Amino acid sequence: MGQIGNGGGALFRVTREIHFCYGHRLMRYAGKCRHPHGHNGRAQVELSSPRLDRRGMVMDFDEIKKKIQTWIDDHLDHRMILCQADPLAKLLQKAGEPVYLLKENPTAENIAREIFRVARGQGLPVRRVTLWETEKSSASYSR
Ligand SMILES: [Zn+2]
Repeated sequence: MGQIGNGGGALFRVTREIHFCYGHRLMRYAGKCRHPHGHNGRAQVELSSPRLDRRGMVMDFDEIKKKIQTWIDDHLDHRMILCQADPLAKLLQKAGEPVYLLKENPTAENIAREIFRVARGQGLPVRRVTLWETEKSSASYSR
């Protein structure tokens, strides 16, 4: 039989939620987030496909977990996420602390884009990544 299409431009979507803790601070910013602090973050990684595989899935949740959750656990969880231009980055690295550097300010928007970029690089058919920085605030990136 092969793949099951569904015509009409419709899409199947699946979402995997990944919880992780991270620290950051924002540069060029006057609010509270200019000081180092942490969040209990929640990333929602949404995959989509116009068709399902032979199992009737966009992708096995287990497979999504193995790829993107493992990456988040290894690179972002319990790390300071900083802009590479932040002088704090060098200090922490010198002290042997794990940091994850972004070219841009480590806002929820940019962290969502980074997770999106990595998920794409892993071959996941990612459509959108939403990062919940708090229970009430989220930012998402999609392409
Ligand atoms: Zn913050």
